Amino acid sequence: MPHVLITGAAGFVGMHLALHLAQQGYAVTGLDAVTPFFTPLKFERLKAQGFNPDDVLYNKQLISGIYANLSFIQLDLTDFHALEKFFRHNRFDVLVHLAAQTGVRYSVENPQIYVQNNILSTVNLFECCRQYSETAHVLYASSSSVYGATETHAAFAETIDTNKPLSVYAATKKSSELLAHVYAHNYGIAFTGMRFFTVYGPYPRPDMAAYLFTKAIMEERPIKVFNYGHQDRDFTYIADIVQAITALIKLPPPKQTAPHRVVNIGNEHPVQLLQFIECLQNAIGKKAILELLPAQAGDVSHTFADTTQLYRLTGFKPFTPLETGIKQLVAWCKQYPHL
Ligand code: NAD
Repeated sequence: MPHVLITGAAGFVGMHLALHLAQQGYAVTGLDAVTPFFTPLKFERLKAQGFNPDDVLYNKQLISGIYANLSFIQLDLTDFHALEKFFRHNRFDVLVHLAAQTGVRYSVENPQIYVQNNILSTVNLFECCRQYSETAHVLYASSSSVYGATETHAAFAETIDTNKPLSVYAATKKSSELLAHVYAHNYGIAFTGMRFFTVYGPYPRPDMAAYLFTKAIMEERPIKVFNYGHQDRDFTYIADIVQAITALIKLPPPKQTAPHRVVNIGNEHPVQLLQFIECLQNAIGKKAILELLPAQAGDVSHTFADTTQLYRLTGFKPFTPLETGIKQLVAWCKQYPHL
């Protein structure tokens, strides 16, 4: 089976993907800097993969996980020399690049961290692929945030204009798409960019609404609802994201001048924020206390994936109903009340 390198493997999407691919029989190496944002959750995600967080932080070597075909290394992608050394000694058939400084709102206050971790890191990685690896397919995480100030209320097709980002985070994701095109064009490396739409599920990102709202309702604290709730999001369940990536891994774009494509991965069913909160209330069995606030800088009011291309390529599109996914998230939050 192919050897897959997953960057961001201590993160929300990376952890689920690493476990799934290892269960499918792929040789999987996870890589993550384990940056000091939401560290307790990253430790739990590492433990779920069978890695002892102390070994991860102090060993700095490849360590083995819950399965014989799953390993992990702590490495910071901004450290080109360390990354180069790692690539000199390891070969990968597929790279799934998920590592990033995430979160739209934090990027308003701390833009430089995003340029370091999302643009410099991505160039370092692509450069190592070019110099040292025979990687047949590089998949990387982009985001629905690249659609930015798009006016349409119809589903976002990949072909619409993405030159109007509203946050530094979104601009760094658009930059990854541009860099992938350069490396595809100049060196013939096959790239698939994946525009994820608001992912939710167990082991969630603690800065995202799904987690913040769930915790607040469970603990009977007020929820901050921006833009007075006039937002809708195409919430996409984590298992659907993992299934879509697994299908895309096997489908590098055909050899051509620049073998690069971007693909939306979203649920294609946008939900109003207040409807989302109602669904959470039902699953938790408690009423939410709402604090309605104006919109925040960087927020988009609407996301809606057109998944025609994903379905045409893979025969798959996300399908998990919100009620089903929310139940899994709430069950996880009840199991880990301290996180
Ligand atoms: P996450 O924050 O949970 O995981 C990202 C991981 O990257 C973290 O574990 C972090 O330690 C690691 N990282 C950051 N900088 C690094 C560096 N310099 N070197 C090595 N590792 C580093 O994020 P996630 O929710 O799992 O998202 C995965 C990817 O998908 C990201 O690229 C994100 O931008 C993108 N995305 C996510 C969503 C979503 O809803 N979760 C939506 C759109 C796009």
